[in-house]
Amino acid sequence: MQKVLSQEGVTLFESKQAIDEMLLKVHTPAHLKEVKQAWYYKGASLAVGGCVEATERIARGEIVNALVFAVAAGHHAEPSSAWGGTYLSCIGPSVINVREKFGLKRFAIIDTDSHHGNGTRAVFRNDSDVLHVCFCDDDRIEGNGRKIDVDVGYQTNDEEYLEKVRNQFFTRVREFNPFMIFHNFGHDTCRGDYGDRGLTPNFFLRLTKEVTEVAKELCDGRYLIITHGGYLSDMAEYIFPQILEILIKS
Ligand SMILES: [Zn+2]
Ligand SMILES: [Zn+2]
Repeated sequence: MQKVLSQEGVTLFESKQAIDEMLLKVHTPAHLKEVKQAWYYKGASLAVGGCVEATERIARGEIVNALVFAVAAGHHAEPSSAWGGTYLSCIGPSVINVREKFGLKRFAIIDTDSHHGNGTRAVFRNDSDVLHVCFCDDDRIEGNGRKIDVDVGYQTNDEEYLEKVRNQFFTRVREFNPFMIFHNFGHDTCRGDYGDRGLTPNFFLRLTKEVTEVAKELCDGRYLIITHGGYLSDMAEYIFPQILEILIKS
């Protein structure tokens, strides 16, 4: 990462832990109490803190896009329960914070982790100003057509998956016109990973490029990538510096 990070226009921010007040905007006191006693609390609250800060900097116009390396927080965290290695919501507090501070309204979320984003869905279920398109195992449309699940198939390929992103997310987000795009970016869909869908490492670069272009077209490039599932470290080392390059050049 060092080489990419030393480029002009790139800043590395060190996350600060999210405070209780921020977490309680989404989670119940009982859930927060439980998470605070667990070993993963620090990592999870740093991840949320990073997302809240990145979203606020984007809202202020200080930065255009960002990549947050998240651990122990993300799309499986519901208001009062969580599973799957993510125990606090990242996008929930991030959206609520910039709505309160800047009166911003509409946000789009694309979830390309291999698994269903039940937590994100639960947090925004009744919020018609959040478009949530989740690529998982279900075909489902709910919440006035703003909460969508797309079955990507047990095994697919790069082109077929990208075509689904274009048809199911890009067409909808163009009509929806959000302030910014959040991306729950799992790479567990890669061949050989635990959510293997048959995708190649280059798929993740193509996906980033395409979403970056759509963000430029719709919302002045405002785009926040939040890392999700995936355990192949070689893969991560291959894709993330290049993903940063794509964000820098956009
Ligand atoms: Zn889903
Ligand atoms: Zn996953």
